[in-house]
Amino acid sequence: MTQPYEVHWSRGVVSLRQGGRSIARAPSTNRDAMAVARQILRQRHKGECLTENAQPRIVKVLSVRDTRVYEEMPDGTWKPIPGSGVEHQCDRCGRTHEVHAEVLLDTGKRAIVGTSCMRAESPEIIRQMLSLQRRQRRLAELQRDKARYDAARAAWLRARSIVAAMPVPEVTVTRQGEGGRWEYRCGDGYPCWSHVPPEIDDYEQRRRCAIDAWRDKKMRELGQTPFYYPPEPKCNFEKEIARITRQLAG
Ligand SMILES: [Zn+2]
Repeated sequence: MTQPYEVHWSRGVVSLRQGGRSIARAPSTNRDAMAVARQILRQRHKGECLTENAQPRIVKVLSVRDTRVYEEMPDGTWKPIPGSGVEHQCDRCGRTHEVHAEVLLDTGKRAIVGTSCMRAESPEIIRQMLSLQRRQRRLAELQRDKARYDAARAAWLRARSIVAAMPVPEVTVTRQGEGGRWEYRCGDGYPCWSHVPPEIDDYEQRRRCAIDAWRDKKMRELGQTPFYYPPEPKCNFEKEIARITRQLAG
C-alpha cells in the first residue's frame, strides 16, 4: 500500500515526505508550497497527485479576465500597463494577480486564481486557460479596433457635412489642344475628361463628375477618404464581437 505524502515547509524550502522519509525538496514560499509539492509529484509519479492535505484541484477554467489597462505603442501594438489592473489575492498561491481566472474546483466551489500560477496544472487545464486567454485578448483587440473605427467614421461624416455645406464653385470646360479631349473642372478640383464635344455630351453627368471630384479633393484636404467612400472597417466588428462573446460564454 502506498503511504500518504506529507508536505513540510520551512525556511523557504518545501519538502515532500513519505513514510517519514524526505523524497523531494524544492524552494518555495509558504503559500505556494502545495502547488510546488504537487508539481514535484507530477514530475516524479506521472500525474499522481497528493491525496492527503491536498488543495482542491482545478477541474475546469470558466473564464479569464485581464483587468489591466492597455496602451498603444508607437508601432501600433498594445501593451498592458503593469499595476493598472484590479489586484486580486489569489485563492491558491496568495499572491496578487491582475489577470483573473475563474476556475471550478473538484469540491464544486469556484475560485479566482492567476493565470501564472496555473503552470503546474494538467495539460488540459492549461489548454483551457490559454484558449480562454487568447479569446479574451482577441475580444479586447476587436473592441479597441471598433472604437478606433467608430471615431474614424464619425470624423469622416463630420468632414463630409463640412464639404457638403461648402458653396460649389463654377464648372469650367476647356479643350486640351486642337483635337484633344475636353477637361471638366470644378474650382480647383480634380479634372474629369471626355472625348465627346460638350454640345453632344451628357453635360449634366460630366458636370456632376467634376463636382464630385472637387468634393473628393476637399475631403482629402481634410485628411479623409473620398466623399462617397467612408473608411473601411477591418472586419464586421459587431459580428466578430458577438461570435467571440458566444464562444467565451460557451
Ligand atoms: Zn496564484
